[in-house]
Amino acid sequence: PTMAHSQALLVLENFIGGKFVPCSSYVDSYNPSTGDVYCRVPDSGKEEVEAAVKAAKDAFPVWSSKSPLERSEILNKLADLIEHDLEAFAQAESKDQGKTITFARTVDIPRAVHNFRFFASSILHHVTECTEMPAVGCVHYTSRAPVGVAGLISPWNLPLYLLTWKIAPAIACGNTVVAKPSEMTSVTAWMMCKLLEKAGVPPGVVNVVFGTGAKAGEALVCHPDVPLISFTGSTLTAQRIMERSAPHCKRLSLELGGKNPAIIFDDADLSQCIPTTVRSSFANQGEICLCTSRIFVQRGIYNEFLKRFVAEAKKWKTGNPSDPTVDVGALISKEHLEKVRNYVKKAQAEGARVLCGEGVDPLALPLGNQKGYFMLPTIIAEAKDESCCMQEEIFGPVTCVVAFDTEEEVIKRANGVKYGLAATVWSGNVGRVHRVAHRLQSGLVWTNCWLVRDLNLPFGGMKASGIGREGAKDSYEFFTEVKTITIKH
Ligand code: NAD
Repeated sequence: PTMAHSQALLVLENFIGGKFVPCSSYVDSYNPSTGDVYCRVPDSGKEEVEAAVKAAKDAFPVWSSKSPLERSEILNKLADLIEHDLEAFAQAESKDQGKTITFARTVDIPRAVHNFRFFASSILHHVTECTEMPAVGCVHYTSRAPVGVAGLISPWNLPLYLLTWKIAPAIACGNTVVAKPSEMTSVTAWMMCKLLEKAGVPPGVVNVVFGTGAKAGEALVCHPDVPLISFTGSTLTAQRIMERSAPHCKRLSLELGGKNPAIIFDDADLSQCIPTTVRSSFANQGEICLCTSRIFVQRGIYNEFLKRFVAEAKKWKTGNPSDPTVDVGALISKEHLEKVRNYVKKAQAEGARVLCGEGVDPLALPLGNQKGYFMLPTIIAEAKDESCCMQEEIFGPVTCVVAFDTEEEVIKRANGVKYGLAATVWSGNVGRVHRVAHRLQSGLVWTNCWLVRDLNLPFGGMKASGIGREGAKDSYEFFTEVKTITIKH
């Protein structure tokens, strides 16, 4: 790939102890919609992580002794500053990640702002427990304290959104943090660092070390002075993190991959279900851990569903992410695009039908985007349940549709994967909706909707989709250490 000649290349720096510090080596990060190098990201390792952890440790005593209200005000200020620069953040996120400018403007950056406001508010409302034992003259109560330096590792699909979902609760609770964003999407985290001082975040409370998982990520996971790690990413990386942190018995929160089913019964309102299922399959190029990738449709409506679903998917426009009329942007990298395409090839080789998209329809791209990593929304029908397209996380704009007959059968098939993150159920029968929701092995079940979130409630997956939950109460519990104190009077 060639460099963008028109403008100077962006060079990021680590943010440690309230200062930007250069690194001795860098890795390239690409603009997925052009294939050009967009910026250079510090290739941090042990040394940089060591400096960041030290800064975070030094900042901990003062930050952790501030009142929740003081911390809350700072978080709100930071939210305001990000919101003020929303357009610049959205532009950067779109360029760095390949996502459409519309998605970055309406989902990623507003949610990052909301994450800070939400935890700024929720930290004010926690109460601890108290029980009494009059017979022995005792009261017991619990007290919660921040844990220390939190290690936060985030993926490339929703860069600032997922990073702030960790930073906000961690610092609201009084921890200090060392964060490592994905080396492929580091720009908005770096932009946020520029606002920290103005928001009143003391030096060392938020440190950001940029670099690869193998070097910077592992150094953070292995650091003895980082007692907890909140990680969002793939199941494979999580296994590695568990191994590497085992010698230190670290506290882990792991938000991982999914292979999310949609179950569509014959009494579903298809006028709602079809556009929502297109969105749940292809939003953000299918690069959301909650995206639908296995659609089970009851046999009586199978043909009608397929026809209308394909027609709706074809309405989605793929192209230049900065064009506000575009629905599907570029995939994160050349390697990832290749991987996603290979799944479609494998499905065909295994006898499934590709109804639209990759290899079936022409993809016309603007001149400036010919070297970008684009792919059309692709629908595969009749893949076998045990095939790799129905078992493995593809994490791209590919979804599989299959038919089912009975409720009992579809629950078994929907649960027949190693993952258990999110599911959607479509039916007009309220009894059925409850029954099925209860029996699905899934941390989140949406019925007759998708991606409607209340941040108060637990978020997370079961089985290979993760360990632990995050949310108002859950994040508070994760990012604090609880103690039970007994007083005899
Ligand atoms: P990834 O696991 O490759 O990387 C995630 C982060 O971990 C990156 O910052 C990476 O640099 C770092 N990392 C990689 N190896 C590491 C190591 N050995 N030690 C420490 N850190 C390491 O995941 P990705 O490809 O960036 O993201 C896509 C994955 O994330 C998908 O599987 C997706 O489902 C998942 N995801 C899950 C959720 C959720 O909330 N459950 C949300 C978004 C994405």
